[in-house]
Amino acid sequence: AFVTRFGPSPTGFVHIGGIYTAMVSRDLAHSSDGVYYLRIEDTDQAREVAGADAQFARAFDAFDLRPDEGPTSSTGDDGPYAPYRQSQRATIYLSFVRELMRQGVAYPCFATKDELTEISEAQRTLKLPTGYYGRWAPWRDASEDAVAEAFAAGKPYVVRFRSEGKVGERVAFTDRLRGRVEAEDNHNDVVILKTSASEPRLPTYHFAHAVDDHLMRTSLVVRGDEWLSSVPTHLQLFAALGFPAIEYAHLAPLMKQEGSSRRKLSKRKDAEASVDFYLESGYPSEAVLSYLRGLANSPLAELPVPEALATPLRLDEFQSAGPLVDTVKLADICADYIATLPAPEVLAGVRAWASTYDPELVEVLDEHEPLALAAIDVERVGVDNPRKDLARWSDFRTAYGFFFPGLHADVTDPADERFGGLDPALVAALAEDFAAHYTHEGDQPTWFQQVRDLAERHGFAPNPKTYKKDPDAYPGMLRDAANVIRVLVTGAQRSPDLYEVTRVLGAEEVVRRIGSCAA
Ligand code: GLU
Repeated sequence: AFVTRFGPSPTGFVHIGGIYTAMVSRDLAHSSDGVYYLRIEDTDQAREVAGADAQFARAFDAFDLRPDEGPTSSTGDDGPYAPYRQSQRATIYLSFVRELMRQGVAYPCFATKDELTEISEAQRTLKLPTGYYGRWAPWRDASEDAVAEAFAAGKPYVVRFRSEGKVGERVAFTDRLRGRVEAEDNHNDVVILKTSASEPRLPTYHFAHAVDDHLMRTSLVVRGDEWLSSVPTHLQLFAALGFPAIEYAHLAPLMKQEGSSRRKLSKRKDAEASVDFYLESGYPSEAVLSYLRGLANSPLAELPVPEALATPLRLDEFQSAGPLVDTVKLADICADYIATLPAPEVLAGVRAWASTYDPELVEVLDEHEPLALAAIDVERVGVDNPRKDLARWSDFRTAYGFFFPGLHADVTDPADERFGGLDPALVAALAEDFAAHYTHEGDQPTWFQQVRDLAERHGFAPNPKTYKKDPDAYPGMLRDAANVIRVLVTGAQRSPDLYEVTRVLGAEEVVRRIGSCAA
């Protein structure tokens, strides 16, 4: 059983890559009967943003990724390894720092910013690797007196780890996702405890990772591959602390296609990097999650959403190249998925989305629930290939809004451009004639026959071929006349099956709408 965790930094931005990582962590834990917990990595207090926790909680709720333990765990309490917030673990880190200092494996460093800059400038001049190491680490082997003096003078200091890594040394380790990996040691005496000039004294990522993942009994660290190069440092820290080494699975980042090249999905440049993009647009979160699973394990991309969600991820199916996020493909998956849902579930999805993003729509749906269900069922019930007109819940207004009083606006101007440039007098005449002879009875062919008859009465060509032979002889084709009726009934040039639409709207409303433009 794997114990995994997700360790977001609360910077006020939930990246879709974070949801991807959390999903993989949770999946690997749960499919092995393990535990998936959340740890808030708030050691960089300068970057911290109020309300960031709530944003994560919302994203976890939406994507069904609530942790088994953590500050937002469903039980409301923190769980057996609390606290789950690094800023509340300061004394834990301090006691380990003290122990390392006592052993001489860590030491205080009083170097100022300016001194550090001088060091790296000298290294650059000599074409040496930059950093705080070996003979370039003035406090590494400072005398006890010098240290005592600096303390007495109240100089601010950080605590550094006495690294055993050599410049250029390559370290091999096993990654559960990539197999054998070699990374160059970061020969630096890395900072493990941040400056004493600010309170509370917090550790750096490296140190917190070692202490927390050990104490909180993580057995598989699932994280972004930007940390691969830090593994040699982390292995040394684990050893120095006397902790057994831990297993890693480093995930490749989500990518974006740009022209012929690929780059990491960027928080600054790409709307789809933000989890809010998916929530606000109303992509069904199960479908988004299923899409992310397909990015993790490509065989899952072939499965329908419910199966993709139910099939455990396999570490050996991950690729070391970053998977491409393609919102067009995502929209296709979402549309396919929504088309399989029964009307009450579609309505529930739209409602849940609208309750946050479109309150006016919620009111309309509450007032006209039977109409909403009937509208969604048009071209859905008993149809083998249901119309895929919703990829996002936010598409509901465009696709089905015309059914509802309050959302539908009557078309009253015969010169409206939706009539495709037909003579306005003719549009009005068609409307008047159709409304006057309208029959709501009969089956679909009968219904459409009245459109054909209408077109014929007004001299429209029955088909494109006839029309093309002598365009001047006709005001247009049958389909131009049918378009007038469609626009009057639905407000759009494309719509679900008109016959079905009129069944849902009822005869009175159909006649009223068509008449709204009559001569
Ligand atoms: N807080 C780290 C980050 O945001 C987490 C890395 C990890 O999961 O170890 O990148």
